[in-house]
Amino acid sequence: MQRQNNSLTSMNGGALTATENKQSMRIGDLLERRRPCLSFEFFPPKTAAGVETLMATVKALRILNPGFISVTYGAGGSSRVRTLEVVKRIKTELGIEAMAHLTCVGSTRDELRTLLRELETAGIENIMALRGDPPKGDEAFTAVEGGLRYATDLIAFLAGEFSFCVGAGAYPETHPEALSSTDDVRVAVAKVAAGANFLVTQFFFDNEAYFRYVDRLRWEGVTVPIIPGIMPITSYDAIGRMTRMSGARIPQRLLAELEARIDEPEAVLELGVAYCAVQCRELLARGAPGLHFYTLNKSTATRAVVSALIAANAVHELVPG
Ligand SMILES: Cc1cc2nc3c(=O)[nH]c(=O)nc-3n(C[C@H](O)[C@H](O)[C@H](O)COP(=O)(O)OP(=O)(O)OC[C@H]3O[C@@H](n4cnc5c(N)ncnc54)[C@H](O)[C@@H]3O)c2cc1C
Repeated sequence: MQRQNNSLTSMNGGALTATENKQSMRIGDLLERRRPCLSFEFFPPKTAAGVETLMATVKALRILNPGFISVTYGAGGSSRVRTLEVVKRIKTELGIEAMAHLTCVGSTRDELRTLLRELETAGIENIMALRGDPPKGDEAFTAVEGGLRYATDLIAFLAGEFSFCVGAGAYPETHPEALSSTDDVRVAVAKVAAGANFLVTQFFFDNEAYFRYVDRLRWEGVTVPIIPGIMPITSYDAIGRMTRMSGARIPQRLLAELEARIDEPEAVLELGVAYCAVQCRELLARGAPGLHFYTLNKSTATRAVVSALIAANAVHELVPG
């Protein structure tokens, strides 16, 4: 394998190279060819105008040379249609590999099958298979009649009837509904046994939680790539809300610095970006296969973090020899 600096002159702005165009765009394979593999997650906008704004945002991120872009899957019918539309457009118009998220929420097997056939026909090769969160107002997740209960059921369904490359969610600090961390590790192992080709973690701010989790899964025999999920802190209030929902722990030292800036939104953003860049650099230096950024549809913080990594020469690419 030849190693190449990811300098601005060597990048093609994220569009697929002629060689890559001929290669499989399954993310499992991509993760073997590209180290580190950077990916950016977006949610489908509510309006047609929002879709155009999102396309412009994704286009602006091409300079960061993403391995793939992923688009989340919501509870509403119109947002689901937009997931499909945006994924197709990112792949065909921008030439960047795109992954559609899919959940078990509110769909029967037949409905899932129809949607998956549509994605297959559109040339989409990668699916992030999730259970999904309960719809707003519901306390707990309930499967619809003729539908699926857990992410493992969706992964097995995909493996049984389709040939997508499948990603699944993983939780270094334990999923909030899990009975225990041991039980949650058992679930992650079951996802891979059912056919998941790679895992993407929930965001976290304590790298040791990720490294301990990776060690646990490796000890259980899991060999697939485990991509850390990254969320740059951009606002004190937003991060408070999101950590309460996800169970991500903010280390005491970081929390104290954030609280010291509570009345200065810009200072919170500066600290969030700086912390995230240092966090990402350590993750890559200690072997993480890539970084998956939860962008919340805003590219500024992610661009700043990846730019810092490029400046530190921490982002380079393995090119097939
Ligand atoms: C990378 C990533 C992307 C995401 N994208 C989306 C998205 O696009 N749309 C969306 O709505 N949500 C998304 N989510 C959020 C996700 O849907 C929630 O975290 C959800 O609560 C759990 O989904 P899961 O696929 O991990 O579920 P599961 O793996 O099914 O786990 C759900 C809970 O059930 C437990 N469990 C699992 N299997 C069993 C079993 N057999 N017996 C007993 N308990 C079990 C688990 O321990 C866990 O507590 C994403 C999460 C991640 C990490």
